[in-house]
Parts: sequence; structure tokens; C-alpha cells
Amino acid sequence: MVDYVNIFMARLQAKNPGETEFHQAVQEVVESLSLVLDRHPEYRSAKILERIVEPERLVMFRIPWMDDQGEIQVNRGYRIEMSSAIGPYKGGLRFHPSVNLGILKFLAFEQVFKNSLTTLPMGGGKGGSDFDPKGKSSNEVMRFCQSFMTELFRHIGPDTDVPAGDIGVGGREIGYMFGQYKRLRNEFTGVLTGKGLTWGGSLIRPEATGYGCVYFAAEMLATRSKTMEGKTCLVSGSGNVSQYTIEKILQLGGKAVTVSDSDGYIYDEEGINAKKLEFIIDLKNVKRGRIKTYAEKYRNAVYTPVDRAKDYNPLWDHKADCAFPSATQNEINAKDARNLLKNGVYVVAEGANMPTHIEGVRLFLDAKILYAPGKAANAGGVAVSGLEMCQNSMRMPWTKQEVDSRLGIIMQSIHSTCVECADRFGTPGNYVNGANIGGFLKVADAMMDQGLV
Ligand code: NAP
Repeated sequence: MVDYVNIFMARLQAKNPGETEFHQAVQEVVESLSLVLDRHPEYRSAKILERIVEPERLVMFRIPWMDDQGEIQVNRGYRIEMSSAIGPYKGGLRFHPSVNLGILKFLAFEQVFKNSLTTLPMGGGKGGSDFDPKGKSSNEVMRFCQSFMTELFRHIGPDTDVPAGDIGVGGREIGYMFGQYKRLRNEFTGVLTGKGLTWGGSLIRPEATGYGCVYFAAEMLATRSKTMEGKTCLVSGSGNVSQYTIEKILQLGGKAVTVSDSDGYIYDEEGINAKKLEFIIDLKNVKRGRIKTYAEKYRNAVYTPVDRAKDYNPLWDHKADCAFPSATQNEINAKDARNLLKNGVYVVAEGANMPTHIEGVRLFLDAKILYAPGKAANAGGVAVSGLEMCQNSMRMPWTKQEVDSRLGIIMQSIHSTCVECADRFGTPGNYVNGANIGGFLKVADAMMDQGLV
């Protein structure tokens, strides 16, 4: 089987040159799935793996727009429709200068497994642009979003492909894109999730990824008869996922001591309380400022700017119990993983997608800590997006309690699927295998049922 994995990966790399993040995401999944293919040769002969790594459709397009100075700008847009085996394509849009095909393919690939784990009928997709919303006026963001949707609208639809937010795409951007979609199609449907509450959005959607990630960590702790109460937590990022991760940590009696952006990080030994969190939310979502301002306001906190010469991130080098990487891919390298273990961290729940480099993943698995990969731990966001789609179809909104309780049940179910699949395939406690296998089986069976399409 090692040979099969090696040959499979060599072919994938040759066929998709330079897409390093995509190779990394597939490698991790294929290593887990070799356990399944051993027992189920029918998946192998149906070439399920070969088919699942190939997007069903990929669109790449030009986005011309005009900046406030009257200069013409040109960005590149993408939508990757990876798998519709169990439902319409579903997954976020990312606006960040680092966006390229390899990054979006890794995200779309992971999304297929994640969406399958949620128990809801959603296929996988991802998209975005190399546009950087940072430093742009709201009018520039609006013109960009309108131009982006002017091409994307013909590829998506409430029963075909339903995008959502991701890095750089929050409520403001979803609003502008929804407005343009509605204008072009002359219809008001649930074509995007993460919408505003007065026009089809779901309560708890903004909170869902962060809350869900902490619910998942609490489930893992419960397997060792522990709770979040009194746990010191390291959190990275200061965007949507981080903000609500910190809120839920606080609600469950834990203490978050770090927060970051791409320029640096804050260490606040006293902990980020509700008032400080309110300050962060206003700073990031309204003022669109930088996290170093936190240390100017709260003098006991220490700000450390990013030092690109360092081969590790000092944010991960503090004493703690839990870590919630919630910024971006590969933010924990092998040295960071060693630092986390050395500092006593025994719970890692990934709010971000693939934040841990593959060597770091191996270190966590070898140390037998409670390590939840993103496709399980951060699935709460897309799960509530699925619930938003349900409410849109019924044209009936649910209460906050209803959505939050469904989110809690879904996170419990994902946790038990991971535990059960890891056990069944002989690797108890390995949430990476559990998530990959649990997500795969449902999609693979649907593909077998639907014939060669
Ligand atoms: P967001 O609101 O845009 O926040 C992203 C945060 O991460 C910001 O603080 C940003 O800092 C930081 N960041 C982004 N790129 C970085 C980089 N290359 N280096 C260092 N810091 C960086 O995005 P988000 O929605 O919270 O998403 C965060 C992560 O969660 C992503 O991996 C995303 O795929 C994943 N995720 C999101 C959802 C969701 O529902 N939103 C669901 C599942 C998974 P700057 O402001 O300086 O850029």
C-alpha cells in the first residue's frame, strides 16, 4: 500500500506542478485512506481516489475594476467545483493576495470531506481572488465585488453552487456580491451564505466556525474527563474565526491569552475578557485596524511584530493547555509544534484550514495529544451555512437557540464519527484518520451509486 500511495502522489504532483498546498492536503488524506483501500478494493478499482482529486469543473476569469483614482485594476478570479456527489458545491470565497490555484484546490479538496462530515447534503467547492481588500475603500471593495459576481453569477445558483465567506470575505463583501447576483438574475434566492440577518442570513452563522471549534475541543477533552474550565488557550488570527473562538472559550470558563494578524501578535497574560474582545471586534470589523493597537490600549499586553528571519512563530511558544490556530494554512511548522508540546499544550483544534505543516501533524499524532484537523474542528461554519440554506428554502428563520443547539449536535456527531472511524480502522484516538475516513466513505459510496460521472 505504501507503493500505491507513493505512485499516486508522484502522478498527482506531475499532473499538478507547483501546487504545493494541494499536494500536501492530498498526501495527508491519501495516507489515511490507504487503510480503507486495503479493506475495500472496490473503491480502488472504481478509481474513486483518482476521480476525487480532479475538480469536476474549474473556472478562472478576469476581474477588471476601477479604483478611487480612476486607475484600471485587473485581478484574477476562480471557482473550483470539486465534488457534487452528495449535494450542490459548497465552500467559501477567499480574497487575499496569496490566492492561487494550488491554494484554492487544497481548500476545495478539504471542503469535500468536511462537508460530508457535517451530516448535511453539501458537495465541495472553493473560490476567490488575488484581490487584497486591505487598504481599499468600501467603494473600491464594492466595485470589485460587483465585477467578480458579473462573471461568477453564471456558474452558481442555490441548487448548483453556493459560495460563502473565507479570509477577506465577510458580511460586507457577501452583501455586495449578493446585491449584484440579485440584480443580474432578477431573483432572491439563497445563492450565498453568510448573508445579513435582515436579508436571509442565519443567526449564529458569524459565530459558527469559532463556536464549533471550541465545542469540538470540549468534546475531545470530555474523552479524558476534562472540560474547558480554567484552560489557558493560544489563539492566532483576529478575524471571524478567532473572534468567536475567543468568545466561546470565555463562555466555557477558559482563558485566551494571544491574538494576531499578519503583522504581529499580542500576548495578554491576564486573558482577553469580554470587554477586550469587544475592542478587537470593533478594531477589526469596523475600524479595520491592526492588532498592535490592542497593546496601546491595554498596557499590560505585549505586542511582538512578525520577524521573518525567525524559523518559528513565538505565538506558539507560551505555556498553555490548548491551541486554536485560526489564521491561515501552514502557520504551525515542525518547530512550532515542538514548542507547543514542550509548553504543555495537549489540545490542538484547528479553526483555520490546514494550519499545521505535515511534520507538525506527525509530531502531534506521535505525542498522542488531542489533535483535531481543520476539516473536523472548523466544520461548524459550513454546517451553519447548510442550515442557512435550509432556512432559505423554507423561507423561515430559526431562533438563535435552535441554530446553536443544532450546531452543538452536529459538532458532537462529527466528533463521534471521527472517534468511531479511527477505532474501526485500527488507529484509536487518531482524529486525522477518523476525519479523513469518515468524510470519504459517504462521498465514495455516493460516487459508486451514481456511476461513472
Ligand atoms: P478573516 O476574518 O479574514 O481573518 C483572517 C485572520 O488571519 C486575520 O487576522 C489575518 O490577518 C490573519 N491572516 C490571514 N492570512 C495570513 C497570513 N498569510 N499570515 C498571517 N496571518 C494571516 O478570515 P477567517 O474567516 O477568520 O478565516 C481564518 C481561517 O479559518 C482560514 O484558514 C479559513 O479558511 C478558515 N475557515 C474559515 C471559516 C469561516 O466560516 N470564516 C470556516 C472554516 C475555516 P490580516 O488581517 O493581517 O490579514
